[in-house]
Amino acid sequence: MRTEVSKFALIQASSVSDAVSKLTQYGVDNAVAVAGATDVISRNKNRITTMMQQYLIDISGLGLSYINGSSSSGFTIGATTPISTVANNSNISSGISVLSQAASAVATNQIQNMGTIAGDVLQEVWCPYVRNDFPCWRNGGNVCYGAIGDNRYYHSIFGGRLCYANHAGDLAPALTALGATATIQGSLGTRTVSMEDLIPGINVISGRVKENTVDYNEILTEFQIPAQPSGTVSAFYKARDRGTWDFALASAAVVLNMSGSTISKASVVLGGVDVKPHRATGAESYLSGQTLSESVIQNAAAQAVADATPLTTGIGNAYRVTIANGVVRKALRSLSSTPNASVYD
Ligand SMILES: Cc1cc2nc3c(=O)[nH]c(=O)nc-3n(C[C@H](O)[C@H](O)[C@H](O)COP(=O)(O)OP(=O)(O)OC[C@H]3O[C@@H](n4cnc5c(N)ncnc54)[C@H](O)[C@@H]3O)c2cc1C
Ligand code: SF4
Repeated sequence: MRTEVSKFALIQASSVSDAVSKLTQYGVDNAVAVAGATDVISRNKNRITTMMQQYLIDISGLGLSYINGSSSSGFTIGATTPISTVANNSNISSGISVLSQAASAVATNQIQNMGTIAGDVLQEVWCPYVRNDFPCWRNGGNVCYGAIGDNRYYHSIFGGRLCYANHAGDLAPALTALGATATIQGSLGTRTVSMEDLIPGINVISGRVKENTVDYNEILTEFQIPAQPSGTVSAFYKARDRGTWDFALASAAVVLNMSGSTISKASVVLGGVDVKPHRATGAESYLSGQTLSESVIQNAAAQAVADATPLTTGIGNAYRVTIANGVVRKALRSLSSTPNASVYD
């Protein structure tokens, strides 16, 4: 893996429209939007053939760093808001703690300070093959090494096509569980999409294999998080190999609307186990109408991974199905009024 940075020009955009027009002018092979640059510079240092754009269009100074609102009114969060600001915002930690817990679980303090909420959601995958410039689908080739090689850590346990690399951003499952939407500005205007439509899974856009629907010459400007019904509780739990910093082996974002002690609606979204934030629909429908008890928690976790299809070619990654089951249990237990302290599994 190469480590020195190759030459590039950093161009400050004067507005979102200016960024869109500069990206369009230089083209997908030559230009990329940059916010905190923690991923873009890593890609450059990794010398990934198709991701070493020469013009970095800087959108960090466009007034897109803000958090407004509350859990009863809903939040708007600007795209270039630092991850650490999300982690430390008291309205977020008291109202929608799933999001502050997810932000706190990202990498290191330094990366949380530089990295932005949209950058986390739109970051490239960390499959070691593409990060070492193998000529795979994502890097302009026509093979997936991850599907047939070392797929222990960075690849889907819920299938895929073309590219099997996990979506790595910790904030995406939390935003999905909260029912967030995102506004995107391009040369043809502005659109607002659900998280499911923002990251639907693998597609080919402007000739690039990718999981999100933001084209190279579009700018994500803002996330909107709807008001949460009173009594809503939420939690995020992430399992990782190293405590200092690491990507998720699996994570779970859980949002429960409560009517007294009964769950009226559940959102359960897994991270780090699929090419997109993975909505665990089986667990969601099972939890609706239930009261959280240890047996309900264990059944819900089993439902969350019942449709897993881990990779069996190459080294394989079936062990992460057990970890995904475990993170759902951990997240739900943290919301239980009578957590069973003797249960460690
Ligand atoms: C050592 C290391 C450890 C990490 N560990 C974790 C981890 O544990 N969990 C985790 O979730 N992440 C992790 N990351 C990823 C990190 O969170 C991202 O690099 C960071 O969030 C990206 O934000 P940024 O603002 O720096 O994005 P940039 O590097 O500026 O951009 C990243 C991508 O998003 C696009 N982009 C950014 N903002 C916009 C926008 N507003 N509109 C359109 N496109 C945009 C860029 O074009 C680029 O393709 C790690 C990264 C490193 C280097
Ligand atoms: S999983 Fe994706 S990034 Fe990794 S080798 Fe396959 S196509 Fe490339």
